[in-house]
Formats: sequence, structure tokens, C-alpha cells
Amino acid sequence: MPANTTFRRTKIIFTLGPSSESEEMLEKLISAGADVVRLNMAHATLDWTRMIIKRIRKVSAKVGRDVAIMMDIKGPEIRTGDLAVPIELKPGEIFDFTVRPGAPRENSEEIRSVDVNYKDLLNDIAVGDTVLVDSGLIRLEVLDKKDAHIRCRVLVPGELKSRRHINLPGVKVNLPAFTDKDRIDSAVGIEAGIDFLALSFVREAADITHLREFLAKNNSHARIIAKIEDQSAITNLDEIVRACDALMVARGDLGIECPFEDLPVIQRRAVNTCIAEGKPVIIATHMLESMISQPVPTRAEITDVANAVYELSDCVMLSGETTVGKYPLECVQMLDKIARRIEQEESPDSRTISVFTSEKMKVLNSAVVLADGLPNSKIVTFTKQGFVAGGLAALRPVHSPILAFTPFPETYRQLRLLRAVEPFLMPFASDPEVTIENALALLRRLGHANIGEKLVIASDIVVEDRFVDSVQLRTVR
Ligand code: PEP
Repeated sequence: MPANTTFRRTKIIFTLGPSSESEEMLEKLISAGADVVRLNMAHATLDWTRMIIKRIRKVSAKVGRDVAIMMDIKGPEIRTGDLAVPIELKPGEIFDFTVRPGAPRENSEEIRSVDVNYKDLLNDIAVGDTVLVDSGLIRLEVLDKKDAHIRCRVLVPGELKSRRHINLPGVKVNLPAFTDKDRIDSAVGIEAGIDFLALSFVREAADITHLREFLAKNNSHARIIAKIEDQSAITNLDEIVRACDALMVARGDLGIECPFEDLPVIQRRAVNTCIAEGKPVIIATHMLESMISQPVPTRAEITDVANAVYELSDCVMLSGETTVGKYPLECVQMLDKIARRIEQEESPDSRTISVFTSEKMKVLNSAVVLADGLPNSKIVTFTKQGFVAGGLAALRPVHSPILAFTPFPETYRQLRLLRAVEPFLMPFASDPEVTIENALALLRRLGHANIGEKLVIASDIVVEDRFVDSVQLRTVR
């Protein structure tokens, strides 16, 4: 039974940058069906952030499609310092990383060096560890560490430029998960009304708990997206999924921190764990990388996007493709096209059954089973904080979209992250039956409920003055 083609089930996130930030381009991308806009705070100033959030809201209102905003904070990061001129590192060369600029060094006349912004690196790193610089392009091995210096041998050479990112695969770094910069960025985001906060380099559940406390103290309803990017996150994946509101498989750094051949295995495990725990999951990075400079993707990229859809991920995400790429609109259109095509191929066999045990989830499960057995059916539900819609989405109905009504604008935007969920903003009446009638009238008006269609309605009903969970089957008349 093919999926309903009116709605795309897989959601599209794009990252804002010079290629996509103009009002004109934003309007095109949102009209083309983008669901969530990501602000990458590694490259954003606070003034730009305030300005761009206002612009996104303004364009969303103009287009009539309110997208969600995700602020992606940088998290702990180790970087090399400034260099007057780039250093061409040679194979086998001995090279120093210095944690205290200007500290005296053995053989400083013969051995070249660069500063590093993390003073305690000597305590965390061990002889034999690998140091990767500039997205893993340059590889060194630690030979010795003394005073303020880490002496290494160059294994894979390359040109070292100023302020390059350092990865230390398998090393537990003692940097705080939520840095001072993250705190300042988040405060600005919260004030401007962001919907999601993505925390980079999450290593354990406690990182998320601390951020949740920060959000509560600042009266923010933003949901937390945990970005898994290193080996600690993979070790602690289960507890991280339980603690977060959504997960991002950040394949850029993951592919540096872990053996790259493990990446597809990690992705699949992360998606299945999220579905089982009822948490949305985002597949990020290099989805259409070649489209940064070409108008069409490679065949391998098409298959990668298709794989994320087959795996039943909630979202696919664009980064460089829409920040600096030449074809941002074509990238969103391409994701839309591939997702819609692959969604036609879904079957109950492709579904990882959720392991929910609560009575509420069993009722929702019966709604999904009912909808799965009815061609052309749609699920209609009502959700204040988004949990009921999240539960239905986690059960991965095979072909029915989930039409989710909420009275709250922030929930309405946050629902954009969930697979197969189409959000509608509408006030709720005190009588659930009136709310259902209003919703059906709105769906008919918008052309989403056509005569003869089956609607599986998962909602409260009132029985003897009490609210009771119910599943109803109605035919649109
Ligand atoms: C990634 O590493 O894949 C990612 C999404 O994170 P960032 O863009 O912040 O490096």
C-alpha cells in the first residue's frame, strides 16, 4: 500500500549561511518544503543571530508555513592557534603542540610547533594517541609529552593553517559540555524564541541534564537535540537517547572520531534506538555534498538519502549545501523528491517496533494498527506538548500521515521535526468532541479530508465526566 503522497513523511532541515540567508532565498526554501532551519553558532555572531531569527519568522509568516528554528551550539572544541603563514607538515616530521604559548621547549630551533587553545590537553592525552587536525586531513602520533608540549610524529602530511579543529579519537577530554560561549549564544537564542537547542559533542546523559536545568531556569520551552559526534557518545548511546528530546547523528565529526567503516553501523543503531525510545532522529552531513558545486547529486548521495528514509529516520539535514553551496534550493527540492519516492516503498517489514509498554502507548498503537490496515486513511490527533504526536510518530504508521492539532505555537513548530507529522495550529475547546469537529471542519476547508477518506482519530473523549483515551474510525462525509 503506497504512502500518502500529499505529505512528505521525512522532514528536511537546512543550515543557514551566505547562500541561503537572504529573504528571497529563505522564502524559496521554506516554500519548497523545508521544515526546520538550523543556525550553526560556530560561524554566527550574536547580532546576526538576532537579526536572522526575526527574518525567519517574518518570511515564515509571509509564506504561511511556520518553520522551526534550531540553534546548534558549538560545544567543547580544541583548536590550533594563529599562524603567520601556513606550515607544510612533511611525512615523518617531528612536530610540537604547545598548550602555553611561549613556554621554553627542547630543540625549539629544529622542531616546528603550533599553540593549542586547551591548557589541560597534556593531562588527557597519552603517548601513542592519535591527533587529527583539520577534519582529519592531517594525522599525527603522540611520541612524548613534557611541561607544556606534546611532541608528535606526522603520519599523514598536509598544510596546517590557522585555527584548525583538532580531534582526538578515543580520548576522554575534560572540557565542559556547555561552554561560556554556548551559554551566551543560548541566552540570545532563548530570548529570540528558538524551538530546538542542539548540543554538540554530547558525551553522556548528564550533559543533557545540565542543559535541561539551564533551559528550565531561563523559562525556555526549547527541546534538546543531542549531537552524537565521538566514541563516548556511542558508548553511552542508550542513556543519551533516553535523556534527550531528539538525536542528531553528526556524521562529520563521527567519521573522524570513529573508524569510518563503522559509520553506517552506528547510524542504523542510533536510528533503531531512537525509534524504540520514541525519540526523533536526524541524519546529518554530506547528504548532498557534491551539490555544493554541482546542480545534481552523485548516485551514491541519492542512495545515502534513500537509506536514511528506508531506515525511517525523522529528518535529513543539509549543511554546506545550503550555507555556502551554489544550489541551496535544488538541494531542498532533491531531498523532497528522493524522500517522496522512497516513502512509496515502505512496508510494515521496514518498521522497527517501538517497545512502549504504557497503556497510553498501547492505545496509540491500536490507532496505528487500524490505520495501517485501511487504504487512504489519515490519523488525526490532538497534542498540547507534542507527546501524543511523538508517540504516534515513533510507532511509524506505514502509509498514513499524522495530522496533529495543537493550540500552542511552539509545539506546532516543534512538531515539524517528527516523521509523518503534519502540524495544525488551532485552539482547543473544553469539550473534546467540539475540538474534533473543529479540526475536521478545518481539514475539509484545507482540502486534507476528502469525501470517503477514513480518519483514525486518537483523542480524549468524555465519559461520565472523565477524560478517556479513545480511538475512533470516521469516514469523511
Ligand atoms: C557534524 O559533525 O556532522 C555536524 C553536524 O556538526 P558540525 O556541523 O557542528 O561540525
